[in-house]
Amino acid sequence: MIEERSAGAILYQEFPSGKIYLLLNYPSGHWDFVKGNIEKGETLKQTVLREVKEETGISDIKFVSGFEDKIEYHYQRNGELVHKQVAFFLARTNTSDVKLSHEHLNFTWLRFNDAMQKLTYKTAQNLLKRVKDSGFES
Ligand code: ATP
Repeated sequence: MIEERSAGAILYQEFPSGKIYLLLNYPSGHWDFVKGNIEKGETLKQTVLREVKEETGISDIKFVSGFEDKIEYHYQRNGELVHKQVAFFLARTNTSDVKLSHEHLNFTWLRFNDAMQKLTYKTAQNLLKRVKDSGFES
């Protein structure tokens, strides 16, 4: 089985009316948080900073200390089973302007409940739920 590791961010903006979360539409159809493969020699946070910049153009991000989590799943790639683990950090930005790369089809900023509905996979929904349960969503 192939082992794959990525790191990503539950990226949000904060307004007086509450938080909105960034979701990306992946070419295979699903909606998920920004993330990408960890390159050799990178720390997880370095991966996140690089991927957020590459995939959204956003460079002002601030990690929320105390929140780090992980999801895992399996998928088939060229007939081979891949076990993938993705580390996630919670991070805030003040930038709403997103400049997508060729790696995604679309993006959206959504409030908690709408983001929960838009996320394709249960693992990602549960991750966002854990953000709320940790007291970070209010
Ligand atoms: P990365 O953003 O880490 O570079 P990627 O764009 O190469 O990743 P994934 O988003 O991991 O790829 O998607 C690879 C496959 O896994 C797709 O078929 C996708 O539908 C599936 N997949 C993605 N996220 C999940 C999940 N949370 N649970 C189950 N399957 C998933």
